[in-house]
Amino acid sequence: MHFNTLTALKTALDNKTLSSHELLSLYLKRIQSLNPELNAFISIMEESALLEAKKADELRAQSTHPLPPLLGLPIAHKDLFCTDGVKTSCGSKMLDNFIAPYDATVVRKCREAGLITVGKTNMDEFAMGSSNENSFYGPVANPWNKAYVPGGSSGGSAAAVAAGLVPASTGTDTGGSIRQPASLCGITGLKPTYGRVSRYGMVAFASSLDQGGPFARSAEDIALLLNAMTGFDERDSTSLNIPSEDYTQHLNRSIEGLKIGLPKEYFSHALNPTMQKTLEEALKTLEKLGATLVEISLPHSHLAIPTYYVLAPAECSSNLSRYDGVRFGYRCEKPQDLNDLYMRSRGEGFGAEVKRRILIGTYVLSAGYYDAYYLQAQKVRQLIKQDFEEAFRQVDVIASPTTPTPAFKIGEKISDPVTMYQCDMYTLSLNLAGLPGLSMPAGFVDNLPVGLQLMGHYLQESKLLNIAHRYQSETDWHLQHPSSME
Ligand code: GLN
Repeated sequence: MHFNTLTALKTALDNKTLSSHELLSLYLKRIQSLNPELNAFISIMEESALLEAKKADELRAQSTHPLPPLLGLPIAHKDLFCTDGVKTSCGSKMLDNFIAPYDATVVRKCREAGLITVGKTNMDEFAMGSSNENSFYGPVANPWNKAYVPGGSSGGSAAAVAAGLVPASTGTDTGGSIRQPASLCGITGLKPTYGRVSRYGMVAFASSLDQGGPFARSAEDIALLLNAMTGFDERDSTSLNIPSEDYTQHLNRSIEGLKIGLPKEYFSHALNPTMQKTLEEALKTLEKLGATLVEISLPHSHLAIPTYYVLAPAECSSNLSRYDGVRFGYRCEKPQDLNDLYMRSRGEGFGAEVKRRILIGTYVLSAGYYDAYYLQAQKVRQLIKQDFEEAFRQVDVIASPTTPTPAFKIGEKISDPVTMYQCDMYTLSLNLAGLPGLSMPAGFVDNLPVGLQLMGHYLQESKLLNIAHRYQSETDWHLQHPSSME
């Protein structure tokens, strides 16, 4: 039962073969027994979840009106989505005592669609990281092998779905934090077009790149979740004011004749040969379904890492300046004066990676270096965007690895930030361009799951889900689950 898709669980609730209370009790029991070894959750909301489940069952029994589409189904939220009355820590000591006084738009929309929040998931501090090792609450274990990382920064959300602790969760993707953990945990995750999902109530990391999105077991489930999450929000100044869409509508459309671009820079000798072989199999399946594979070029892709690691820290240094020990968040003990209060609150409240980024960001924005770094990076960002525009004149979507390797061991890369940043080589460009992308399970390398990334033009989430759904109708990688988590 616990490895069922959201779609299958929805059918069971609709047919009344299962009550929401039974479903929530089952998942909460699994969370209680398996979370101590996985550390995927920071907060578990058992009491409120069971109460809401009871209400959902009552509503289902009584109502003659159409019900909310996902009524009574469980979801977990990454702990950077503000959740009314619940701790929202962002994985940081800085916000360890922060109880959000309101719901993020994503949380509100999920609730309005009938979803029940079971808890808040572990993550890299302020969403900075690729392994979940930067969390104040400790690392998360990969359910496929607990000595390995689940990816980051939304590692808790991805691990929770992969381990069958919840059928769906939310994450955020500033440079890959939905797609990369989805790939390393063997599930499906989608980063929407920038502006499609409201950022209101999401703790900010790098505002021009941050975007919320869903994790689930299948593309069909992702479509249901996107229907709930997307839409214009006047409280987010970058929210796109365009009509909503039904993402389930085109899932079964034929992909005959669709052109899939393969960036030659991504499928180069740098890619691990076993990864290459696994992904080639996946691409063959797409060809069998009628798609045509076309070699393309994204000539500036090698500049994505340096560009992102200038711009994201610059934005983070500005966004994180609000944590000063005065207004909210952590405050040091017995400050001597105002300066001491600022310095010790920030010094004690932030972890090493966050401090590193604030330092880099402050440096690249400083008067003497602004032109050389920040301004230059903004120019390269435009070139990366133009690469995609040029590519989408030739092809409908672009396919690539999500990650250069499968999951790595906990501790393996943590002392070498530059090696850690290399994990993001295939995901960062998409955020710099603001485009949508998904990662879906495409096989195993060294007994660990790996994903295929599909990247689309602006607002082409439907097309990505269509391809992923057709692929998942032909393959069963997405249905596999770790046997140790039975
Ligand atoms: N791994 C990238 C970073 O450390 C991306 C993180 C994210 O998408 N939130 O910044």
